[in-house]
Amino acid sequence: MSPTDTRLPTLLAVDDDPTTRKLVQAVLSKQGYRVLLAPDGQAGVEAFTANRPDLILMDVQMPGMNGFDACGLVRQLDGDATPIIMLTGSEDLESIERAFNAGATDFITKPINFPLLAQRVRYALRSSQLNRELRGVRQRQAAARRIAGLGFWDWNAEANTLEWSDDATDLLGDDLQLPTTLADLLFLVHPADRNRVGQAFQAVRETGGKLDVEFRLPDGEAAGERIITMTGERAEEDDPMQPVRVFGAFQNVTDSRHTQAMVDYLALHDELTGLANRRLFVRQIRDFFAAPETAQAGLLVGWIDLARFNRVNEALGESSGDALLAQVAQRLKSASASAGHVGLARVGGDEFGLALRCRSEAEAEDKLQRTLQALDLPFVINDQEVFVSVCAGWTLSMHHGQEPEPLINQAMDAQQQARSQGFKTLKAPQSASPSRSFGSLDVELDLRKALQSQQFCLHYQPQMALRGNRIVGVESLLRWQHPVRGMVPPVQFIPVLEDMGLIHEVGAWVMGEACRQAKVWSDAGMPLRVAINLSPRQFMGNELFGQIEAAVQAHQTPRHLVELEITEGLAMQDPDRAIELLTRLRAAGYKVAIDDFGIGYSSLEYLLRFPIDTIKIDRAFVMRVTDTETDRAVIRAITAIAQSLQLTTIAEGVETQRQCDFMEALGASEIQGYFISKPLPEPALTALVRDFKHAPG
Ligand code: C2E
Ligand code: CA
Ligand code: CA
Repeated sequence: MSPTDTRLPTLLAVDDDPTTRKLVQAVLSKQGYRVLLAPDGQAGVEAFTANRPDLILMDVQMPGMNGFDACGLVRQLDGDATPIIMLTGSEDLESIERAFNAGATDFITKPINFPLLAQRVRYALRSSQLNRELRGVRQRQAAARRIAGLGFWDWNAEANTLEWSDDATDLLGDDLQLPTTLADLLFLVHPADRNRVGQAFQAVRETGGKLDVEFRLPDGEAAGERIITMTGERAEEDDPMQPVRVFGAFQNVTDSRHTQAMVDYLALHDELTGLANRRLFVRQIRDFFAAPETAQAGLLVGWIDLARFNRVNEALGESSGDALLAQVAQRLKSASASAGHVGLARVGGDEFGLALRCRSEAEAEDKLQRTLQALDLPFVINDQEVFVSVCAGWTLSMHHGQEPEPLINQAMDAQQQARSQGFKTLKAPQSASPSRSFGSLDVELDLRKALQSQQFCLHYQPQMALRGNRIVGVESLLRWQHPVRGMVPPVQFIPVLEDMGLIHEVGAWVMGEACRQAKVWSDAGMPLRVAINLSPRQFMGNELFGQIEAAVQAHQTPRHLVELEITEGLAMQDPDRAIELLTRLRAAGYKVAIDDFGIGYSSLEYLLRFPIDTIKIDRAFVMRVTDTETDRAVIRAITAIAQSLQLTTIAEGVETQRQCDFMEALGASEIQGYFISKPLPEPALTALVRDFKHAPG
């Protein structure tokens, strides 16, 4: 069968007479159908199950299983979806009757009038197509109503009856006895809202106009407090003797109200510390320079990293880590307040952004040092003394301009440089000519050689679908095998590659290698989705689309197996351009994932604005999911929206069965993390996928 064949409408002709079969096949093939044949009812049902044809032609009289029984069986398997045309003897009214009873769509008499047959087939296919579309529309509407939590009601004011649509119980909460009068309804409504709701109903009853009320239903047994809106209007009757009716729709908006609050909150705040997030931080800096009274003032922007925070997390546990972060935030807050802070934000897992007003470079440096000194004293976590060491990079508006993003990004780069060079603080260079060294090693020189001498390789970390517990994808992660230093982690060298501008070259290599591997797996009957990380600088450059196209074309990789992971921040500086590029990538068939979702700069707004396929929930959330309720609420809000937009959600950094269970319960679709496996070199990953068995959790 050539691939084009599969796109033709497929017909299945079931007849015991070989000549009829041949003729039917010859005539209908000419009309552009693919025709499958079966010699009796039994074979017909089997062929139906195996091939799911678009239409069946079925003889009634056959040895073995006859056409009526076969028709009945197909209907059991498939409902009314597939049209069945029965071939009956002429004038045989009884079998025509039986055929319809068995579920036939139409009939045609033997001997077959072939032009008529072709016409009937066309007609039956067309109406079944229309039916399918109509069913699809109805299903989508029902789903939309369910997702929106929308139902209907009708109040007859004279008879004092209140009626509800069928799904009302589901929507209002099934612990609730549906109110059948207005008084019943008011009795259920939260006392504080009761009077207002009653008056709204009476007003519409008496004077017409529109009803639009929102009220609370207090806690039920199973459900918490629910928020309901009712909108409606008075039915305008010509006949004044008719009773007054008011009718309309109601909606359970509890989830979307909570989600909305969550969207607002996530958009500007960090849950754990209550500090601003990166988005708000950017805004604070922008507002500072926009205000006439501070437009000419000096500003220091610092990027502060807690150097050994992971050690604390590992040694004392995640909840202690959280407690430490909250205390650090608190101290930074009071120390910077006295230094005149303009903004303080948590901009990453263990990273803080600080904006301080200052008049000179010397003053800036002094204020930063004094603020950081507040972290020198030990913290007390669970009766234990904990020391943190910090490392900060900073920029100054007098030297680096007034644009928030460059100020922040250069401070971040300076922080990374400070760490690798062992400084506590470092000011970003004024001209962009950073020089790098790791101790005595010249990283830049080594990195230039690394690509030619094939020191880069990719490791792959599996991603498991929680439905079916199968490995459905992998994330490719770059590794640098340094001849002397051994394996260098990507966080240490990718920023250097970015600064050197080498990231485009190395990124192109990653794309080529990942696409090559995706094709190898796909050819081996293991069609894994392969995710490729893009650094913001790659995403902002103009080469991206051409590079990825070159990679898939070179290796003949199916584009739907290629997922591009993008992060926040830089890439989102120009949302219009990002949307355009993402749209273009997805139109070409690639998948797009938002990486590290939920921290810092990200917000649910992405879900609503950017055309994406996948959200990767950041490890920080997953780590805390088992003990922090707010994190669960945030994840739930993310997965709920993702589900209604049909996006995939991947929980990252799942390390334990418990975290896995939680993520499943919260509605994530896939998990990735040490619980399944660390990132592996290709042969080990292939073996893992081959042998993968995971007890359902
Ligand atoms: P990422 O994209 O967030 O990748 C996930 C990181 O989390 C990986 O670190 C992975 O090894 C680690 N991880 C996975 N599961 C767990 C877990 O259960 N527990 C813990 N503690 N960690 C887990 P890795 O490989 O060191 O990569 C770090 C970052 O480097 C990546 O973060 C990504 O931003 C960047 N990166 C890696 N490869 C590339 C690449 O080819 N291109 C670009 N531009 N960036 C890359
Ligand atoms: Ca990633
Ligand atoms: Ca990630």
